[in-house]
Amino acid sequence: MIGLSPSPLPARLRPMTDPFGRTISYLRVSVTDRCDLRCFYCMSEDMTFLPKADLLTLEELDRLCSAFIAKGVKKLRLTGGEPLVRPGVEDFIARLKAIGVQDLSMTTNGFLLAERCDRLVAAGLDRINISLDSLNREKFEQVTRTKTFDQVIAGIEAAQASPLRPVKVNAVLVRGLNDNEVEAFAEFAREKEIVMRFIEFMPLDADRAWTRDMVVPAAEVYRRISGLWPLIPVVHERSETARKYRFADGLGEIGLIAPVTQPFCGHCSRIRLTADGKLRTCLFSKEDHDLKGLLRGGAGDREIGDAVVAIVHRKEKSHRINEPDFVPPSRTMVYIGG
Ligand code: SAM
Repeated sequence: MIGLSPSPLPARLRPMTDPFGRTISYLRVSVTDRCDLRCFYCMSEDMTFLPKADLLTLEELDRLCSAFIAKGVKKLRLTGGEPLVRPGVEDFIARLKAIGVQDLSMTTNGFLLAERCDRLVAAGLDRINISLDSLNREKFEQVTRTKTFDQVIAGIEAAQASPLRPVKVNAVLVRGLNDNEVEAFAEFAREKEIVMRFIEFMPLDADRAWTRDMVVPAAEVYRRISGLWPLIPVVHERSETARKYRFADGLGEIGLIAPVTQPFCGHCSRIRLTADGKLRTCLFSKEDHDLKGLLRGGAGDREIGDAVVAIVHRKEKSHRINEPDFVPPSRTMVYIGG
């Protein structure tokens, strides 16, 4: 019998790869730069938002996302700014599901979530991450510079009572601010049966206050939690940012995201579209690639798709945070989309 070797996929169906052989299949889309919180590690208190005309319209977002999906994007996360302040976001979610996004998630601050959760689920959202940097009301208000603690907790509870369960809760740990809450967050995960994710503080803050000694290493978080409750590793995809563990004696899970002390660039599958239509191949890219200009200049779908592939071919090898000549990007987290 003659062995048949599989014929290679036509170029238009092959997933995008970058110069380092990584498959690029995960797009994070910032649907707005606007936000109803003012977290210090993300934006300045007197933040000026982009003029509305600079933001992609929902129709433009549809077209660009279709181009990415045609090039092999399978996972898509909506972020911002705050995605729930973008009018029409539920309809956008429904359209993304209709055009074939396999895994559609959102990162939100949770403030508007309790009242919107049902609509997000009905639209087809698959998963949700909610940011919560302190379980202590005063500290939460200090971080977010708003009085929104009760609404965020209500948002977490609403999502956890919905098909989005188990929700993931993200905390950025900052030494001297909330690093004394590691154990309390772990207890919160156990009690609420959620996934509690600890993120190392990255140099993306508007006030340029970041210093290396403000970073709480993931290894320390692991040591402190596993010292109290034995942890069992959970299998994860190589491209996932979090190292995941469940509690040996109960429910709940933790995730450790260590971009500073244990960079995961070698398996990165992500690219980012900013609210003003720039494609970024790394959180720490020095360069933005303007897709909005192309779109508004009348480019067709094929031209946009070709541009995306060409940009992906220039993806950086790594973020270089730990290199002596590292310079933070000029855009801060709120403009990039987390
Ligand atoms: N508004 C939404 C929210 O609050 O989750 C989505 C946007 S926010 C920029 C996305 C994620 O980025 C949040 O989990 C936030 O904690 C994280 N983030 C923002 N600035 C960060 C920084 N300097 N270092 C690490 N994570 C950061």
